[in-house]
Amino acid sequence: MAAEKLQKAIDTLKEAGVRITPQRHAVLDFLLNSMVHPTADEIYKALEGKFPNMSVATVYNNLRVLKENGLVRELTYGDASSRFDCNTSDHYHVICNECGKIVDFHYPSLDEVEKLAQQVTGFDVSNHRLEVYGTCPECQEAKKEQMH
Ligand SMILES: [Zn+2]
Ligand SMILES: [Zn+2]
Repeated sequence: MAAEKLQKAIDTLKEAGVRITPQRHAVLDFLLNSMVHPTADEIYKALEGKFPNMSVATVYNNLRVLKENGLVRELTYGDASSRFDCNTSDHYHVICNECGKIVDFHYPSLDEVEKLAQQVTGFDVSNHRLEVYGTCPECQEAKKEQMH
């Protein structure tokens, strides 16, 4: 499944005339196999053993190229740590207040919210982002353990 996705992504890049360097391949592979919406720093840390000469700037540069070609989405949270998501289909996120983990969930797109926002405010609405917050199962477990 991930291998198929990787091949598809590589085909997209090739068609766009983007060179597939070993680092670019590794960043893409890591993103497609990681369900955790990593930061650039986390990607760098995961790959630095494999590519000792790679810098954080290289990771950012590769993420920018992947973003420009529609293969990843950047999720900004108003601080320095953008997270990267290789699931580019419409989906929403539930975020753990304890550990910051982001998990995808699917729900029919709330198009009527966009329509309403447009009517009420006169904005030309382009998209929306919905986030649900709570405590993930692992952190719930950890809390229970602490109480024993
Ligand atoms: Zn958690
Ligand atoms: Zn996501």
